Amino acid sequence: MPRLSARVHLPSGRVARLSDEAARRAAAHARTPDVRPGGSMEALGILEAKDVARTDAGAPIDVRGLSLRDFHVLRALLVHAGVQAEAPAELPCENCGEAFRVAPSSLLEIAPFVDAELDDPELDAPFDHETAHVIPAIRVGTELARSIRIAARTVEEALPLFRAESAPTRITPALVVAMGITALGRERRASAIAKALAAAPGEAYQAVADCLYEAHYSARLVAVHRCAACGARNDLDVPWQREIPYEIGEPRKARRAFPDLDAFEAMVTSAADRIYQARRVRNIDLIVDDGVPACDDGGEPLLGCYTPGGTDATLGIPRAPEIRLFYRTFQAEHRHDRSFDVAAEIDETIDHEITHHLHHLAGDDPLDEEEHAVIEKEAIRRIGKREAARRAGRGLASELAGFVRTTWPLFVIAFVATYFTFCR
Ligand SMILES: [Zn+2]
Ligand SMILES: [Zn+2]
Repeated sequence: MPRLSARVHLPSGRVARLSDEAARRAAAHARTPDVRPGGSMEALGILEAKDVARTDAGAPIDVRGLSLRDFHVLRALLVHAGVQAEAPAELPCENCGEAFRVAPSSLLEIAPFVDAELDDPELDAPFDHETAHVIPAIRVGTELARSIRIAARTVEEALPLFRAESAPTRITPALVVAMGITALGRERRASAIAKALAAAPGEAYQAVADCLYEAHYSARLVAVHRCAACGARNDLDVPWQREIPYEIGEPRKARRAFPDLDAFEAMVTSAADRIYQARRVRNIDLIVDDGVPACDDGGEPLLGCYTPGGTDATLGIPRAPEIRLFYRTFQAEHRHDRSFDVAAEIDETIDHEITHHLHHLAGDDPLDEEEHAVIEKEAIRRIGKREAARRAGRGLASELAGFVRTTWPLFVIAFVATYFTFCR
């Protein structure tokens, strides 16, 4: 188990000095039957114990006065260091379905908090508490609300949520206030908002929960697990257990149906006819693959990929260039995002792969280089610049983009023997 970092920076700009020893001592006392192990209440008990958390000047930190965002970073660090226990999550890989088991907090990148690198425009952006955030429609009385406002909350103000974390969830007016929801559409009364949320379609409520997570949790509190079977990136919440419930009420309603394989193939064929002609290319094989999608170096399942023509290394026969579309990635994207436009994305993917093809014929693919640069940059933002340099220094450059070098050649071989360009 790693030790608790002695000095960390929090999203608000505060600095906290932490004592590993005092925290572990406090953890032994914080465990009581009515407090959920690994939860927020337990974290509060530990952080408020003597000598655990101090300001840079050495004074005890007023933990209840911290913003929820700051508090959750401290809680994540406690779980990461094993001061608080976390049961491993057991999930299927989002890409290939293979089950994996991992304690998400063990994969948290803590260096940006330690090295004071909380300046990423996206990952460290403050939440906008003033504007109304768009959500799917939720019925409130006789009106449909399509937006939500969320105020900042301190630990003290969020205590009703912490207290409810070990009990089954029902959204009460007190919880609405504790979550910081100040308006749902035009409705401002907590009692009416609680009622509306309790009856909201699962999908709409999840959009609300996503907004609440964005407001009260740093975007850095995420673990990136790379699937050992297919290399796909699976992002997991840290801490895995959050005091704001992600699911209430009815199970999800069915979405607009996704085309079956035959219908999808027909869409791809007609799109390709049109796009090949427009871009003046021909003789590129077009394949719809309904197996486990290949992933890019960053572990993102691909919508499509391009493989240049050449001579097949094993068979020694010439092979045409190929564009491959991954049916299951389209399906997964559609599942995640209602607004995902399947036809438009097919068009864009084919067009994108043709660009790779033309670059390849020209002898230079700046698009491919750009894509690799984006993946590496994203990894560095998450891991932290100094930590990335340290890992590179230790010869762990492969951990940078999180290459799964041991496994990915297997599925590359399954496709083609020669050179393979990842894309989209
Ligand atoms: Zn997988
Ligand atoms: Zn590409």
